[in-house]
Amino acid sequence: MIVVKFGGTSVGAAPQIDQAARIVHSLRAQKPIVVVSAMGGVTDLLLQAGESAVSGQTRARDDKLWDIRSRHDQAINQLFKDRDTAAGIQETERVIWEEIQKVFTGVSLLREMSPRSRDLISSFGERLVVPMFAEYLKTLGLKSEPVDARDIVITSEDSDFLRVDFDETRKRSEKLAKMAKGGVVPVVTGFICSSPEGITTTLGRGGSDYSASIVGSCVKAEEIQIWTDVSGVMTADPRIVPAARVLERVSYKEAAEMSYFGAKVLHPQTIMPAVDENIPIRIKNTFAPDAPGTLITADTPAHQYSVKTVTSITGMTLVSVEGRGMIGVPGVAGRVFTTTARHRISVMMFSQGSSEQHISLVVTRHDGDQSVKALRREFEGEIERRRIDRVSSVSEIAIIALVGEGIKGAPGVAARAFSTLGTAAINILMIAQGSSELNLSIVVREKDAPRAVQLLHEAFELGLKS
Ligand code: ADP
Ligand code: ASP
Ligand code: MG
Repeated sequence: MIVVKFGGTSVGAAPQIDQAARIVHSLRAQKPIVVVSAMGGVTDLLLQAGESAVSGQTRARDDKLWDIRSRHDQAINQLFKDRDTAAGIQETERVIWEEIQKVFTGVSLLREMSPRSRDLISSFGERLVVPMFAEYLKTLGLKSEPVDARDIVITSEDSDFLRVDFDETRKRSEKLAKMAKGGVVPVVTGFICSSPEGITTTLGRGGSDYSASIVGSCVKAEEIQIWTDVSGVMTADPRIVPAARVLERVSYKEAAEMSYFGAKVLHPQTIMPAVDENIPIRIKNTFAPDAPGTLITADTPAHQYSVKTVTSITGMTLVSVEGRGMIGVPGVAGRVFTTTARHRISVMMFSQGSSEQHISLVVTRHDGDQSVKALRREFEGEIERRRIDRVSSVSEIAIIALVGEGIKGAPGVAARAFSTLGTAAINILMIAQGSSELNLSIVVREKDAPRAVQLLHEAFELGLKS
């Protein structure tokens, strides 16, 4: 058994769905379980329609919903020449559209969109495309059935953070394994899941990759294939560095690290479930299926400069706690972490000067203001007594990460990175190297990020085959 996941561009319209379905057909001997994302852009449109509803712009709301509806209608008309089949699918979709109308009417009336409503709203993209995809596989001669992941992927209730209940999900995934082994191709909605009480939730933006690895690990698949619009994991985001090159092999650790630091090709949580079962992940290009793609496994050859990729993540805020009086104040770092944890703020990066005059953390823009407020409150006494001079923040910053297993023990990586940025007069606001030495992270201003990525890509000769 293998899991085969298609992203938004791979199911963006009828020709792409046809292409993706043919790929599934070609893999039929390997008993595929298919996971699909919403058509490209549909999740964004749904959320925008939600915002319009909140702000009372019903016309804009309906325009966006109409846009989504016509894209699906058009795909159905192009994919299904048989009128009865097309009518059957339209009927399935009509039921989903009735629910969509109700939900959006609710949001318009309440003029608010809670996290729970957001999740429900964003779930419709996957739910609309899956019946279509499954039906289309049938026209290619395969047996297939649509599966709503809310019946399979279950979250655990004992946490405010989203956590998948793997025991429950494993039990429920047996159904998928049975289907696949019996020659039926299950087509599962990516991205969405359910709480034990049946509340619709999601795995976070870009979460269909994670869906694929959850399902893959639960059925102990031989391989998890992520089919997307690039030919694999690349040395940098090709939209920033046109000379970026596809990497044939990447380790689990490298893939986890680079996705955490902004390589959108994989959702950051995708790796863990695969590691647990030691399942290889293969990234493939739907539009160049013969290209070898990238194989992600436990171990991998190192690149000559030990750095394999440069990634960047923007929209961050740098928060600093400063003061000479901090020397000798016990547990400042500990209190910083307790405070952020209490407010459910996730800290992307942390550093403390050895003189203890300075503690910096990087959080998302969304958490920036709250972090500053919470830390000021926490250190109120110290600020009054002038032991801490200030808690401040700088927004519009980016983290640039150099990632590669070989960075460990390779001398001069940091020196090369700093001199490259220094020569280009790009100011470095903070640096950190994980103790795993897999990653060197550098904080710069957001406006400098693309150029920093391009220059580092060049300095480490990542465009050349090692
Ligand atoms: P999908 O809809 O298939 O999930 P995504 O848009 O989520 O596709 O992810 C694929 C995109 O990730 C690529 O088109 C590419 O622009 C971007 N990307 C960013 N960094 C990298 C990288 N290091 N390697 C490959 N792609 C990357
Ligand atoms: N459709 C979802 C999103 O846009 C999930 C995904 O694409 O993986 O975030
Ligand atoms: Mg994606």
